[in-house]
Amino acid sequence: MARFDAITFDLDDTLLDRRKTFRLYAEALFTQLRSLWKTEVLPEEFVRQLAVFDRLGYALRQEFVERIVDEFGREGAVANRGRIVKELLDNFYEGFAALAVPMPGMNEALQAARGAGLKIALVTNGSTQNQRAKIAALGLEAHVDSIHISSEEGVHKPDPEIFKRACDKLDVAMARALHVGDHPINDMAGARAAGFGETLWLTPSDKPWPEELGRPEPPRIESLREFPKWLFGNNG
Ligand SMILES: [Mg+2]
Repeated sequence: MARFDAITFDLDDTLLDRRKTFRLYAEALFTQLRSLWKTEVLPEEFVRQLAVFDRLGYALRQEFVERIVDEFGREGAVANRGRIVKELLDNFYEGFAALAVPMPGMNEALQAARGAGLKIALVTNGSTQNQRAKIAALGLEAHVDSIHISSEEGVHKPDPEIFKRACDKLDVAMARALHVGDHPINDMAGARAAGFGETLWLTPSDKPWPEELGRPEPPRIESLREFPKWLFGNNG
């Protein structure tokens, strides 16, 4: 008998290749608003430094764009800091999602889940505007049964409540659900605390499992391309 009735996926760095998307965004920002930046700034340096300010998406956006202006802004830009910060925020919210790059293997993973007869939900932390735009850019609405965004739910991962809501909406027992995500606390510990039947960690093979999260370590895959095979081998 199959182990799972449903699967929930994280969005950023799971179905969405945030690293690649971010790189495209930073390159575009450098070119589009070239007149704002000091003349000596090189594009590679700009892109590299923006990734540092971004903290893999966990930095507050206001803080993120303020650091860009302070580090790379020409004198004129710094003098108009407030206006430029607002312009960069708008640029981020309009531009980033539009550049969304799917994680390699995204479509195959969704098809494998569907092929196994599983219901599918997204469980993601972030703002409605930002997450909805990324979901639309990746064309995910057509492939999932339910979407749960923390700002809409009023509760965010790792709170088990958001996982529970996804399962309630799908009408499946949490013990019969699988969550796939990249974050040890938000995804793995959160879904475990909710009583999910299994969690699958999408992560580089050399990344250590945090000791404080206890044992057993969740099973892991390095790429979504491995997911169809994993599901086939673990849903029996
Ligand atoms: Mg993530």
